[in-house]
Amino acid sequence: MSKPCRRAFDFAVDDGSSGKYPLPDDSRSGTMPMNGNGNSAGYSGMSKKEVLALRLKCVGSPTSLYFKDDPMMIVQGEGQYLIDEKGNRYLDCINNVAHVGHTHPEITRACALQMNHLYTNSRYLHEANSTLAERITSKFPKSLDVCFFTNSGSESNDLALTLAAAHTGGTDVITQTGAYHGHVQSCMAISPYKWRSVKDKPDHVHVVSSPDTYRGKYSDSDNPTEDYVKEIQDTIDDMKKKNKKLSAFIMESMQSCGGQIIPPAGYMRDAFGKVRAAGGVCIADEVQVGFGRVGTHFWAFQLQGSDVVPDIVTVGKPMGNGHPVAAVVTTRAIAESLYKATPRYFNTYGGNAVSCTAALTVLDIIENEKLMENAIVTGKYAMEKFEQLKENHAVIGDVRGKGMFIGVEFVRDRSTKEPATEEASIVYKRMKERYILVSLDGPDNNVMKFKPPMCFSMDNVDQLVQALDDILSELATLGLI
Ligand code: PMP
Repeated sequence: MSKPCRRAFDFAVDDGSSGKYPLPDDSRSGTMPMNGNGNSAGYSGMSKKEVLALRLKCVGSPTSLYFKDDPMMIVQGEGQYLIDEKGNRYLDCINNVAHVGHTHPEITRACALQMNHLYTNSRYLHEANSTLAERITSKFPKSLDVCFFTNSGSESNDLALTLAAAHTGGTDVITQTGAYHGHVQSCMAISPYKWRSVKDKPDHVHVVSSPDTYRGKYSDSDNPTEDYVKEIQDTIDDMKKKNKKLSAFIMESMQSCGGQIIPPAGYMRDAFGKVRAAGGVCIADEVQVGFGRVGTHFWAFQLQGSDVVPDIVTVGKPMGNGHPVAAVVTTRAIAESLYKATPRYFNTYGGNAVSCTAALTVLDIIENEKLMENAIVTGKYAMEKFEQLKENHAVIGDVRGKGMFIGVEFVRDRSTKEPATEEASIVYKRMKERYILVSLDGPDNNVMKFKPPMCFSMDNVDQLVQALDDILSELATLGLI
């Protein structure tokens, strides 16, 4: 394990050596036995039934849960594992929020120390805030040198839209099919993933096809980049005819909810060129895929070439390893445009000292534990293993990914690519019975997502692939696939 993370502002604090920390010895937060499937004496809180009943009574019904038919109650996390109230230990293959591993002790400790000093709003100077802004911007190409802190990916994308409008004077936004950018109204408006139908599309929003090279609109094209980018140009031309002014083009550097989509080479460069020529700015949403997940680069847009630089980048989820902290990174010119429009950006919690401490510690851990290197090696191993499975199981139509971001797409027929949605759903439930958590997404809910905590190991890959192999073989024997 790497060294505990000590910061300048750890001064004069009881740092645990005297016994003040670790946190209070509470049976609910104590480390639970990790026995794979046995009962644990470690949890003594409310029963799952009670928790569920209260939730059904008091929490808004649209609030989503994994495994709706039999929701899980997770009482402990540790590294790449999640443990339920009975002590069952699940291998977590999907939690890209717990980027450096669940309940990483260095984050727990650093945040506890910071909470011993100050936790309040963000109106004061604080070393953690300024240092984090400097460290985050240092991870970007030079022109992206200004940072705003928020509390979530949605807030970041909302602010990115505000920045774009202030800078361009435009109103209209181009987004992609399958895109998800957040739950607030401005983000829902640009998130076709969440629309019930195209009727939900507001007038200022224009939708181009997701640059999916497996089942997308131009997946059979000899030059998908050209075709997908032409759609953007056509959209811009159409907007001009209607006297609409472009504000922004927004895209996830790699779509996740849209089905683990990796844009073809040259897509971002060419798309950004068209958008800028029309007076718009380019927003890359890295909320899911940032912070080294792709292994070779810190940000996924960098996979498209060192000359590809968005005007605004939004980041979130992994940034605080589960602590709500997110950011918008942009150019000084764009930030100044907002200053001219509304000189008072204030976000009560965005950039508070505890959140910034969590994020600083995440950055330390990514480096200290060489997690990007692990993403390269373990991700490559996982890709190879999934490719081998594809050779044996016709239901796997495609395997795609970069680093620790992989999609396995299930189809009924490889030539028609008919989505194997129900089959995928059986796999997903069976995996849970094997104590492995995966998720399904994409427009047809037939893409198994792999985006685990970055400490995921090769042994974990073996466990995952073996279970998938067993389940697919069993379903084939039963004639279900
Ligand atoms: N952008 C992307 C790409 C996302 O996947 C999400 C969340 N799934 C968001 C934005 C919104 O982030 P949050 O839930 O933190 O508001």
